[in-house]
Amino acid sequence: MSIIKTKNLTFEYIRRDEEGNVEGITTAVDAVSLRIRQGDFIAILGHNGSGKSTLAKHMNAILQPTEGTIWVDGMDTRQEEYVWEIRQRAGMVFQNPDNQIIGQVVEEDVGFGPENMGVPTQEIWQRVEESLRAVGMYQYRKHSPNKLSGGQKQRVSIAGVLAMHPKCIVLDEPTAMLDPSGRKEVIRAVRGLNQVEGVTVILITHYMEEIVHADQVFVMDQGKIAMEGTPREIFSQVERLKELRLDVPQVTLLAYELQQRGLKLPDGILTTQELVEALEHYF
Ligand code: ADP
Ligand code: MG
Repeated sequence: MSIIKTKNLTFEYIRRDEEGNVEGITTAVDAVSLRIRQGDFIAILGHNGSGKSTLAKHMNAILQPTEGTIWVDGMDTRQEEYVWEIRQRAGMVFQNPDNQIIGQVVEEDVGFGPENMGVPTQEIWQRVEESLRAVGMYQYRKHSPNKLSGGQKQRVSIAGVLAMHPKCIVLDEPTAMLDPSGRKEVIRAVRGLNQVEGVTVILITHYMEEIVHADQVFVMDQGKIAMEGTPREIFSQVERLKELRLDVPQVTLLAYELQQRGLKLPDGILTTQELVEALEHYF
């Protein structure tokens, strides 16, 4: 069963002047058809303006398609009676943690989602505890979110989504504003949700190291899916990635350069460990 399925999904932003006349149309998502399996860890890559955020906003019905269809857990997002349910099944985490945290105390903030859903009080506290533990923030439950680091705030945002018991979490560049250690914290928490809690993860990022563990990668370009495959399949195509203006992980690039100079190495090396093992044959 697909948790997310799209068929010819198309979205156009229409710009109008002061009198309301159409000035221009941007096709941000262009006839995208894809399926995301329940339980997978999906990464979406693409340079700025390729349509990633617009696609993501369809996954919890923030935007409605101009043409085509998107189903979230089998529900067509254009059917208004499903919107509430869809927002609970597919939670969304954005780039800036400061815009997402509203509570004065961490545990209060995490409880807002389930409270709005009408979850009974006893169960709210249980969910808050579980969610904070899942992202490694339980010891901060009584803290003020303002005093936390960026990585910690982002983990609180993720706990807030998790407390709604979604089947799927869509994270739109959640680490873009974080320092390297904050990025690692967040990615570790997100991987845990996927592996331990079985939550489907859709991670939009431009940090290549963050997608190494993904089950499936989609690369977007001009609103279309330009590449699709496992991280290894994607990173085997260094030239294509460069055409799409994407960086390649340093270790993958190094292995590629060594291959070009005649070393016999497997395609799409993703980690230092793999490169070290492949090079051992030479010593
Ligand atoms: P990405 O997240 O990959 O950077 P976006 O989905 O934000 O891409 O943008 C895709 C295209 O849609 C870009 O050309 C962008 O300029 C345009 N766009 C995004 N948001 C808006 C908006 N609110 N109004 C008009 N155009 C927009
Ligand atoms: Mg974006």
